Amino acid sequence: MRKTLIAGNWKMNTDRAAAVALAKGVAAGAAEVDGVDLVVCPPTIYLAVVGEALAGSPVALGAQNVYAEDNGAFTGETSTAMLTDIGAEYVILGHSERRALMGETDADVSKKTHKALAAGLTPIVCVGELLEEREAGKTAEVIKTQFEGSLDGITADQITSVVIAYEPVWAIGTGKVASPEQAEEVHADLRRLLSERYTPQLAEEVRILYGGSMKPGNAAELLAKPNVDGGLIGGASLKPEDFLGIAKAK
Ligand code: PGA
Repeated sequence: MRKTLIAGNWKMNTDRAAAVALAKGVAAGAAEVDGVDLVVCPPTIYLAVVGEALAGSPVALGAQNVYAEDNGAFTGETSTAMLTDIGAEYVILGHSERRALMGETDADVSKKTHKALAAGLTPIVCVGELLEEREAGKTAEVIKTQFEGSLDGITADQITSVVIAYEPVWAIGTGKVASPEQAEEVHADLRRLLSERYTPQLAEEVRILYGGSMKPGNAAELLAKPNVDGGLIGGASLKPEDFLGIAKAK
């Protein structure tokens, strides 16, 4: 009953021409993908042209970040209203690169999640442990802390509009993918946390994506796990055939 969602996180890649070509490539192949929601998240500056390139296709537009204020003296930032204005429907929040490089905290992510929901955007809220945390046996504890902090104050009415992405930091951009069992263990844990905080029924409705070196060749076994509801794709989202190949693996 949870529809698979495959989201491409282009990160700080492409230029204007490459972004448009990539979007058109994904849009052109989208009809061959059945029963899967597709989203592409280009760099902020290319959101508008990518949105135009996707027009008339089933592929949705997403941003990689947003600022949690409405407007005003926030040099360099982008508001939720600006994102919806150019047709974005999703926004990635709390990606580990932003947590590590820009110092984003769970409290920041929670604030952004509230803002995104209020604007009608679907937040894709990222959580994930570092390699040293996994090796120290702290994965479950880290995920619980990030889950509680990043989704602080999100109500039962709101939670089914949230997408969660489990992205083990050691698997991002490293070619080192989590095994389907490792992914399923954390996804099941997240589902249990949702069930305890909300209700088992609501927990069953929330999509939990896996992210970290997902490719056409390893997607099928990950997506076959009962609690893996899709993927957040970095490197393999930069070629239409790879991105669509992952979607077709479902
Ligand atoms: P990757 O990135 O697929 O290149 O590992 C995933 C992500 O960071 O969202």
